[in-house]
Amino acid sequence: MRICLHWFRRDFRVRDNTALAAACRMGDSVVGIFCIDTRWFSAQSGKTSSFQAAFWLDSLKELSTSLSTLHIALKIIATDDPVQAILALSKTLHVQIITLNKEYEPAQNLQDQRLAYEAAKTGIQIKSFKDGVIFEEFEVLSKTENPYTIFSPYKRALLAKLAQGPIQTLGLPDPMALRPVSSDSVPDLESLGYAATKPPIPAGESSGEKMLATFIHTKIHTYHTTRDIPAIDGCSQLSAHLAAGTVSIRQCVVAALAAGATGTCRGAEMWLAELIWREFYRMILFHFPQTAQRAFQKKYHQITWSNNPDFIAAWCTAHTGYPIVDAGIRQIQQTGWMHNRLRMIVAMFLTKDLDTHWRIGEQQFQSWLIDYDQASNIGGWQWSAGTGTDAAPYFRVMNPILQARRIDPDGTFVKRFIPELTNVPKEFLHTPWEMPALLQNQSGCKIGQDYPRPVVDHGTARIQAIAKFQR
Ligand SMILES: Cc1cc2nc3c(=O)[nH]c(=O)nc-3n(C[C@H](O)[C@H](O)[C@H](O)COP(=O)(O)OP(=O)(O)OC[C@H]3O[C@@H](n4cnc5c(N)ncnc54)[C@H](O)[C@@H]3O)c2cc1C
Repeated sequence: MRICLHWFRRDFRVRDNTALAAACRMGDSVVGIFCIDTRWFSAQSGKTSSFQAAFWLDSLKELSTSLSTLHIALKIIATDDPVQAILALSKTLHVQIITLNKEYEPAQNLQDQRLAYEAAKTGIQIKSFKDGVIFEEFEVLSKTENPYTIFSPYKRALLAKLAQGPIQTLGLPDPMALRPVSSDSVPDLESLGYAATKPPIPAGESSGEKMLATFIHTKIHTYHTTRDIPAIDGCSQLSAHLAAGTVSIRQCVVAALAAGATGTCRGAEMWLAELIWREFYRMILFHFPQTAQRAFQKKYHQITWSNNPDFIAAWCTAHTGYPIVDAGIRQIQQTGWMHNRLRMIVAMFLTKDLDTHWRIGEQQFQSWLIDYDQASNIGGWQWSAGTGTDAAPYFRVMNPILQARRIDPDGTFVKRFIPELTNVPKEFLHTPWEMPALLQNQSGCKIGQDYPRPVVDHGTARIQAIAKFQR
């Protein structure tokens, strides 16, 4: 009898799961395993937010139920050494093949190499599959066979490749004949040191499928006009599902293409482009793993940041005095999710206006986000800091006041997260410090008392940031 062990990492689904489907084809019986890697999946580590932990555990519960209908048990092991834990379980269960879907992050790559090396010593085969990306890191290369480092030509090349043949999704595997072991129960958040939290975005494969279908039927056609307005629910909010793999990238691409992403629907075209940004950042992190720590552009390696603790504290506690920045920070703290435009605004504000190293913001986001994804987070932070691939040129510094007036003209979003500003007249909502004293009294929002003064003057900070990069 051939026993396969499928290692679930960020592929918490039974449909369209490449490695799981392969395990079901190859094995007489299949066992699934998820390792709670306590080095990052615990409250103490500060590396997984309670929102993401809650989302993952709820998704695991649904996964376990779905697997049991396929006669596949799900083992769950808390460990700080997944490779050893997997090899030990494999020995106990007499596993011949371990299947996994390939990951693209530097630490995961090293771990997978170690697993392959250790497994080979015991005669266990490791089968790794492409699953989390549309194309592998070597499938979309420039004419000189090098990785692209600029988004637009990469996107063109990827779209040309997509046009060469349809993307296939896989259905549900057939139930296995044998179920040799029983499943473990999914631990609760408290046992990992977290306070009880309900995921603010419905978790699990079935919710992911529903959210994708709803987005495609009701929002994708207007995505190009609504995606930048944080007060409107114009985007898919599928990032938590894509990060956990409760929805597959292929399911999203197939849906975008069916909605007209190659020409007939502008919204679908733009949504597909966002999925390609995700792919681009994965490819970049794979080829340039050093960018997890250092600026992508070498010329910025020498740059220094003041990392003023008071400024960092003001940003982290939503006390910058710039309502659009503070509202964004409160959104992420209260929901684990932040609108993309706000991610750009708050990240640029921290790195440019507050002269703080992007790594500090990147790590802070990791500890808050429900959709944390190393490649996209690093890509987004380096882009905002002006040190990344298609870096916004260093002299582009988003003005938080002008941005706010453009994307939240009547202050609906800002008031939702900063009730202190509820009675502030519209013309001062994004610059409350300009309110005359009488108006501050009348609106019940005294600056410096009910809502902070700006921590820096944007105009001055912008000039200093540009001068620093020029130097
Ligand atoms: C500073 C910063 C940090 C970020 N950190 C993360 C992160 O940790 N995890 C994460 O998934 N995204 C991150 N992003 C990208 C983006 O903000 C989110 O993917 C998006 O806001 C998620 O909302 P949505 O699912 O409604 O996106 P939609 O607009 O519906 O887009 C669909 C999907 O495309 C992908 N996508 C969209 N925009 C981007 C982008 N700019 N870069 C990469 N992928 C994208 C996501 O998977 C998203 O779910 C970050 C962006 C910035 C500027």
